[in-house]
Amino acid sequence: MRILSTTLAIDAKGHIVTATDAAKAKSSSYRCHQCDCPVILNDGGGFLNPWFEHNQQAYPTEKLQQCPYYDPEEKESARTQKLRQLVRGLAPVVSVLNWHCNQCNSDYVGEKHCIACNTGIYSIEAKLPVYS
Ligand SMILES: [Zn+2]
Ligand SMILES: [Zn+2]
Repeated sequence: MRILSTTLAIDAKGHIVTATDAAKAKSSSYRCHQCDCPVILNDGGGFLNPWFEHNQQAYPTEKLQQCPYYDPEEKESARTQKLRQLVRGLAPVVSVLNWHCNQCNSDYVGEKHCIACNTGIYSIEAKLPVYS
C-alpha cells in the first residue's frame, strides 16, 4: 500500500504544522491532519524539504484507505482489478466445438465423436458454426 507523503500534520497540541516547522521544533508526535494516522517526520537530511510519512504499521489499513493521501493510482488499479474479476466471472467459457466427419460427411457439435461412424478419428474441426 502506498500513501503519498504530506507536508502538513497535527502536532500534540492539535495545531496544524508544516513539516518544515516540525523539523525545527524537534517534536516527535504528529498525526495526519486528514485521517489522524500517526505520521513520521522525515527532515529530508538537510537537502530536501521535510515531509511526513504515514506510519502504516501503527494504523488500521481500512482507515488509511479513507485518507485523501492514500495513493489514488493504487485506488484506481484496485478498482480496475475488481472490475476485471467481475467481467471474468460473467464471461462464459466457449466450449462448444463444431466437427465435420470426413467419413460420412456429416456435421455435428460437441464431443469429437461421430455417432453415425461411432468414432471421432475421421472428424476435423469445422471452420464455421454448424446449424442443424
Ligand atoms: Zn492520512
Ligand atoms: Zn461420420
